[in-house]
Amino acid sequence: MFPDQYKTYFRQLIYPGWGVEAQEKVGRATVLLAGTGGLASAAAMYLAAAGVGKLILCDPDTVEETNLNRQILHAETNLGKLKVDSAKEMISQLNPRVEIKAVPQRLTDETIHTAAAGTDIIVDCLDSFESRFIVNKYCVGREIPMVHAGMYGMSGQITVFYPDTAPCLACLIPEKVDTKGPIPVIGAAVGVLSSMQALEVLKLITGIGEPLLGRMLIFDGTKAEFDEVRISPDPACPVCGKK
Ligand SMILES: [Zn+2]
Repeated sequence: MFPDQYKTYFRQLIYPGWGVEAQEKVGRATVLLAGTGGLASAAAMYLAAAGVGKLILCDPDTVEETNLNRQILHAETNLGKLKVDSAKEMISQLNPRVEIKAVPQRLTDETIHTAAAGTDIIVDCLDSFESRFIVNKYCVGREIPMVHAGMYGMSGQITVFYPDTAPCLACLIPEKVDTKGPIPVIGAAVGVLSSMQALEVLKLITGIGEPLLGRMLIFDGTKAEFDEVRISPDPACPVCGKK
């Protein structure tokens, strides 16, 4: 870590157990954000602010007016722009040291290999289970963690999928369960889950704390309550199960 960055990261450097060693791990890390919408917004900003070395942003869409109530990575002035470019602009203003690779593509079984090359962790900020299953398969094959969250209205869930240590997505949900049409989302609630995704990433990178492995947190924003559910790998899982 360069001495000129000491002040920028001072308040995390003084966190017990963090220090220069953890900060350098953060600085060397590459994190892929699958999707640059609501779930990516706070996560991308906090990961950039924390000094993550490289962020890979994957999203084929452009910024639309209906995104703006929750997708705070995108300003109204960027309507019509590619979301990855809009996000890159916002993140670069926050922390110009972060290297950003913008991938304006949908993640498919073909595109993910090039898009995700060199990534240490994937953050699931997607709104489609079809894409989530593609990311899940990739993460299991490469043995990298997938920090999952999902939202509906004021509520959602978060966990870390990690083969051998925790279940994968396919252990829990055997089939794609996409619903048709837009789902309601309150922006402040998606911010809660998105911030927690960033925190899980930082814990995984630094080794500090206990990541959400084998545990899923269920957030009910209407009551401001969290519940925890234990989750286990399925030995017969078609993606991560041992044959
Ligand atoms: Zn599995």
